[in-house]
Amino acid sequence: MTMFRIGHGYDLHRLDALPPKGGGRPLVLGGVRIEHPTGPVAHSDGDALLHAVTDALLGAIGAPDIGRLFPDSDPLHDAQDSKVFLCEAARRVREAGYALVNLDATVVLERPRIGPRVEDMRRSVATMLGISMDAINIKGKSHEGVDAVGEGRAVEVHVVALLASTMG
Ligand code: MG
Repeated sequence: MTMFRIGHGYDLHRLDALPPKGGGRPLVLGGVRIEHPTGPVAHSDGDALLHAVTDALLGAIGAPDIGRLFPDSDPLHDAQDSKVFLCEAARRVREAGYALVNLDATVVLERPRIGPRVEDMRRSVATMLGISMDAINIKGKSHEGVDAVGEGRAVEVHVVALLASTMG
């Protein structure tokens, strides 16, 4: 019996102007809507934070990743609330006999700075997972103006998650 499992999740979405100027969707991170003139180009709602958390949970139990479970060729997932993906990953974690101990996320976004919304995001993700906010850490980072992320043309998220066995 493996007591602990670790998972890593990564996601990146290109950012574009909101319609009618571009094809970006409203910017949502961790289920929190952030007012900004650009947003992710995505088949789903493009919530890169929830996608990376979902992949960290799925990765920890060795399950297929988000792209395999929810293919972007499926019209069902058009503009899909990414909470659906996260909740399915959480269900699989429970089914595998594990519970989330904690997760640590880094959101790399040039603008807007997410600092003022980090507590809202932690609360939102914790609520979706039915876990204490203490277990969810989220921090924002700039890409120092370097390459596409630094030029504000993409958002990138890294997550690590630790699971513990619930089977004793
Ligand atoms: Mg994604």
